[in-house]
Amino acid sequence: MSKIDQFDAVVIGAGISGMYQLHRLRGLGLSARVFETGDGVGGTWYWNRYPGARFDSESYSYGYSFSKEILDEWNWTEHFSPQPENERYLNFVADKLDLKKDIQFNSKVVAARYLDEQNLWEVELEGGQRVRARFLITAIGILSAHQFPRIEGMDSFKGQSWHTARWPKEPVDLRGKRVGVIGTGATGVQVIQEVAKIAGQLTVFQLDPNWCSPLNNSAITEAEQKEIHASYPAIFETCKKSFGGFMHDFDQRPFFDVPEAEREAFFERQYQGRGFGIWLGNFMDTLTDPRANAAISAFMARKIRARVKDPKVAEMLIPKDHGFGTKRVPMETRYYEVYNQDNVTLVDLNTTPIERVTPQGIQIGDKEHALDYIIYATGFDAVTGAFKRIDIQGKGGTKLADKWKDGPETYLGMQVAGFPNMFMLVGPHNGATFCNIPRCIEQNVEWVSDCIAHMQKQDLQRIETTETAEAAWTNHVYETTQGLLFSGVRSWFVGSNTPGKKATFLVYAGGSPAYRQKCEEVVAKGYEGFVMS
Ligand code: NAP
Repeated sequence: MSKIDQFDAVVIGAGISGMYQLHRLRGLGLSARVFETGDGVGGTWYWNRYPGARFDSESYSYGYSFSKEILDEWNWTEHFSPQPENERYLNFVADKLDLKKDIQFNSKVVAARYLDEQNLWEVELEGGQRVRARFLITAIGILSAHQFPRIEGMDSFKGQSWHTARWPKEPVDLRGKRVGVIGTGATGVQVIQEVAKIAGQLTVFQLDPNWCSPLNNSAITEAEQKEIHASYPAIFETCKKSFGGFMHDFDQRPFFDVPEAEREAFFERQYQGRGFGIWLGNFMDTLTDPRANAAISAFMARKIRARVKDPKVAEMLIPKDHGFGTKRVPMETRYYEVYNQDNVTLVDLNTTPIERVTPQGIQIGDKEHALDYIIYATGFDAVTGAFKRIDIQGKGGTKLADKWKDGPETYLGMQVAGFPNMFMLVGPHNGATFCNIPRCIEQNVEWVSDCIAHMQKQDLQRIETTETAEAAWTNHVYETTQGLLFSGVRSWFVGSNTPGKKATFLVYAGGSPAYRQKCEEVVAKGYEGFVMS
């Protein structure tokens, strides 16, 4: 038998969470190996290199906050930075911290099995390589398991087609071409507004429209740059206190206590402001009270009607199945104006569904839309999907996929009963799932690192949550969704965008401060809900 390397910890994934986790494990003096499917660091910002990909969070609220040196040395160029810059930033961090020497690229983890007797995890890669480690830390992201639609004839298409999350590294020249985009979520919107500038003909195939809001991006001026650098502590403090880890936070005034004219002026200010303000800086009631939600939805519908010249097309772009903000709001830059262009056609799949993909394009009813390229912006098997794609087996060979077949069960979204020494960064029901993700990733990584440091100090080898703690947390997560208008809406938050997946709430909706507090309380009570030995 060939020698099996052994480490203190194996981390799966070299995105934002895996990179920081590696840094912290090293700081504890542990040996660690990160396995990454791609050939570079960055995770989301490595894979999602489609035209138009960029942050929807203010750049300076998104970067790592743990290192003053990194903050001082990096200058974001735009308020919402584009993918190439984001990938450069993550490479800059990886080089700065000399992370790459402990990352094995082009290495896809296919299985991870807990060996009861040895109290070790054995991790297997595609190709057969195996390693063992005391701790297994998943850093596999919540939106990484991309999914294609199931449409007849997809393989028969003679042109080229890609999923946005697997966009090629080589340049793709869409100038003057006939391009079809399927999907109008946050990704589709970013792609569409970019491709519309250069395609000869762009056909957008839309199931349900989303409520999109202006990003209001711009370049960062020299004066703003200085101000940003001087304000970092305040920016991160604001994010820490806000519900979603963003620079925006809800207005807690009861919606109907505020006079209508004032509310409208408030909506307008948020609409003209940067980023998620209109969603996550709006009256909290807009996400809980159907009447308040109807008011903001009506405001947004008026904006769409004002921006789209053809009233029929405007109506096609106005969501009828959900209110504003009850699904992730795609951020846009002149998205609605795209539909005023002669080279852009919107096809409503709810009236006439796609029949099949043909060698030449897409067949809908008796019309074949001839295409050179098809872009699938059809999203992800969110939150649990990346776990399902790895054969994870805990004590006694229990499969995680079986345990979670009716929905995830976790404690704090960080551990699962029966899977000792496995930590999940941004796992299902983790506070980081509904958050400006790097802000909550730092909290997750620091909590896990402190926990391991505690075990080191006490000479403990094993940590496992209990079924009781897991059940209580899972119930609590569902409680946090009570009264939220999100609950009944089809989206990746509940997994209902994935065919065959049981719809359950996958994210934690109690807010980052409450999550952070709970994690701190658990530690203060001697790691309540965990058994260590
Ligand atoms: P998504 O929100 O799940 O949207 C997928 C789109 O594909 C939807 O419009 C969906 O229509 C459509 N679709 C799915 N199956 C289809 C089928 N069989 N036929 C036709 N259309 C189909 O996925 P996403 O746009 O990739 O976004 C996912 C998440 O990624 C976002 O919510 C966001 O959290 C994150 N994201 C972040 C950024 C950023 O921060 N900068 C950018 C992009 C994405 P229906 O909705 O009607 O099913």
